[in-house]
Amino acid sequence: MPISKTSLLTLFTSAVAVLAQNGPPASHANKFSGLNVLDSAYSGASFGLNNIPQSSYSKYKWPWGTLPKNCYDIAVNNNYCNPYDVEAYDITYNDCPNNPAVVCRCNNAQVSIDTLAQKIGRIPVKARQWISHWTAWPASSCNAWYQNGHVTILGACTAQSVYFHEVGHGMDQYVAGPGNNYYSAGQEWKNKVNAGTCVPDSYAKSSWQESYAQVAVMAAYHGNVQSIWNLGVNCMADQMGRVNEQLIDTGIKAYKYQQGATCNRFWTRAQPVCMGPAARDAGNCQGVSSISTFSRVADTPEIKISDATAAAIDEERKKEAETKAQPWPAAKHSANEKKFSA
Ligand SMILES: [Zn+2]
Repeated sequence: MPISKTSLLTLFTSAVAVLAQNGPPASHANKFSGLNVLDSAYSGASFGLNNIPQSSYSKYKWPWGTLPKNCYDIAVNNNYCNPYDVEAYDITYNDCPNNPAVVCRCNNAQVSIDTLAQKIGRIPVKARQWISHWTAWPASSCNAWYQNGHVTILGACTAQSVYFHEVGHGMDQYVAGPGNNYYSAGQEWKNKVNAGTCVPDSYAKSSWQESYAQVAVMAAYHGNVQSIWNLGVNCMADQMGRVNEQLIDTGIKAYKYQQGATCNRFWTRAQPVCMGPAARDAGNCQGVSSISTFSRVADTPEIKISDATAAAIDEERKKEAETKAQPWPAAKHSANEKKFSA
């Protein structure tokens, strides 16, 4: 019996719909207009993510001349900052005394080192420990991206939700994900999202990875401010329930502040590299080999990038980050490793 034209057409269009679904269904409603509502007092809570407990810290600024290689690479490869203008810090949190967080910023980045240290310090230690280094650069508006354990902040990002979003990608990759592949790339996550009728906000529709990171922000709220179910999120009950389970209720409870918790996962210390010839000529790169032919001089003006360029770079890096989940080098306990000094 010949298949009717109508059913053939239906078959064709439904197949296209399945193939084209690279993220949550466009027909899902947006629960919030943006997750920044969770940063401050909202819906009966007297505080928000901006006010959750913060680990105290001390900071050590690297002497001018050398930088962690990963900071140098981000600065130069993206034209974010003249490497001579990059400040590198070891931020040592009281709940992770032997393994400082590496934080680098261009000296004209909108976020100060203390703002960065405080925002990072509000990420509970069991999640914070999965980020190898943080960098911050100047831009006219807040933007951020994540790639394989590294978080980049562009512009004046002061909302805690942005930091939980970026680390949320790390949770997707390393805590929820099997074998350091993104959990959200698997069928289970797609089914959980499809089972509901809403997503956190319009940004969550960008991709499966973005939807996971946004739900992770809501899980952080659930674990540290008030029950997320008070906010009427039954329209996304399956996805919400799954991320709460992964990040708040079971395992290392990565996104829940736990009194007395300490780090137990350590990154290998970043290799130091020389900022460039001017730093070597000044005698500040002794014992550190050159890795680059970068030849700007120390007083060369900052390279300015346009907002459009910054946005394009951000998009490109996001795509890169989220399509190429790469195997992670084996964890190395470095509690006895000597602190690097230039
Ligand atoms: Zn994202």
